[in-house]
Amino acid sequence: MLDHTIAAISTSLSASGIGIVRISGDEAIAIADRLFQSHKKKQLKDQKTHTLHYGHIVDPKEDEIVDEVLVSIMRGPDTYTKEDIIEINGHGGVIVMQRILQLVLTHGATLAEPGEFTKRAFLNGRLDLSGAEAVIDIINAKTNLGLKSSMHQLKGAVYYHVEEVRREILELMAHIEASIDYPEYDIEELSDDHVMGKLERIAKGIHKMIQSSEVGKMIREGIKTAIVGKPNVGKSSLLNALLKEDRAIVTDIAGTTRDVLEEYMNLLGIPVRIMDTAGIRQTDDEVEKIGVTKSKAVVEDADLVIMMLDASQKITKEDRYILDLVVDKQVIVLLNKIDLSMEIKEDDIRALIEGVTVIPTSVVDERGLEELQKVIKDMFLLGDIAMDDGLYITNVRHKVSLERALKSVEAVKASIQMGMPEDCWSIDLKNAYGDLGEITGDHVSDDLIEEIFSQFCLGK
Ligand code: GDP
Ligand code: ZN
Repeated sequence: MLDHTIAAISTSLSASGIGIVRISGDEAIAIADRLFQSHKKKQLKDQKTHTLHYGHIVDPKEDEIVDEVLVSIMRGPDTYTKEDIIEINGHGGVIVMQRILQLVLTHGATLAEPGEFTKRAFLNGRLDLSGAEAVIDIINAKTNLGLKSSMHQLKGAVYYHVEEVRREILELMAHIEASIDYPEYDIEELSDDHVMGKLERIAKGIHKMIQSSEVGKMIREGIKTAIVGKPNVGKSSLLNALLKEDRAIVTDIAGTTRDVLEEYMNLLGIPVRIMDTAGIRQTDDEVEKIGVTKSKAVVEDADLVIMMLDASQKITKEDRYILDLVVDKQVIVLLNKIDLSMEIKEDDIRALIEGVTVIPTSVVDERGLEELQKVIKDMFLLGDIAMDDGLYITNVRHKVSLERALKSVEAVKASIQMGMPEDCWSIDLKNAYGDLGEITGDHVSDDLIEEIFSQFCLGK
């Protein structure tokens, strides 16, 4: 499967400054030599590894120059795929890139499938599966913190933590097998209490990783935050004020989901994904009229709801309607426009939603905004996210495998408590070991590998 040489355009498929055709495999250098005329009239095969060469790509059949290029030669195993890699840097036009790729294909390479370069990195043992998945996440990162976490994963954070638990399971399995195979040895360490203690430790380790996925999800996606309230309470003003303060807007990707505008921002280092029911860039009244209807859908979906009221006026029916919608959510109520007057008291709101956080604000005077950010930070315990000493599971597939592994470990504990024989324990232990191996790719079906790498883009 790995014996053919693959090639693809690895840069964006639209006009750009440069474009790269990447070739990986045993034939990579030979193929490039058939097409590349170096400025110095030297063959690539005689060049040192990790060097860059200027020249032209020439269609040998037509003897026609196709592009002026720089070619880099990287010999395995110190490469992305661990194989020989050639990268042809050309002018990034669509036609030029396609012609170069076509020439590479007619001279011996096979078109790479999406993710095939990274798949080779995995199959050749340069990356574990979670590390390969981190590559997709890096490309798709929506927040700075998400990027940081994916880099951490690429460097082996998930692998390391999972392998640690797997080692403990393996050790325990070895002990149990030994006591089954050599019952004449009285293996003292195999008392039920001892095994139970080890299992508790293993379960705790897995549980901790599962727990981290809650924060992990927010790192990856941002805290899904909905700003709701009837028209004119100051929602758009709040959003603008927050965005203005945030000099490092994570991306300027503004998407529309269910007619709701989204914007990513970075509040005190926390990735927040704000969904504005009334329009971020539009202040069009028509849009705001239907705000209440849309609030409903957005609220359902949100991790956090910021509910705004105009404190300079008495509570209206509309306010109560929206308050009803948010009762069961993580909610912060803002009493806005306190620069005008305060017709609504904090306690009025607390009487409606028990224990809710109420912050008086004036968006115009920038009062209460700092407190709002602090409250959000405390609410989601994201205060001290430091990637270096922690692990956050951001991948749902990993979470599912961890949950399965935990179940198996709990099953072993139950077997012991019910006094089942030792060979029963090993079956569930083996399952737990396998489930965790799915995360690192040590124990994984071809179908799953196919599925994971099919999510990649072409040329990666
Ligand atoms: P939205 O319909 O909820 O998005 O409300 P807007 O953000 O469009 O604000 C409606 C009006 O209220 C605008 O004229 C704002 O300038 C004004 N406004 C927003 N916040 C405050 C505030 O804290 N104090 C005062 N006095 N006016 C505000
Ligand atoms: Zn608005």
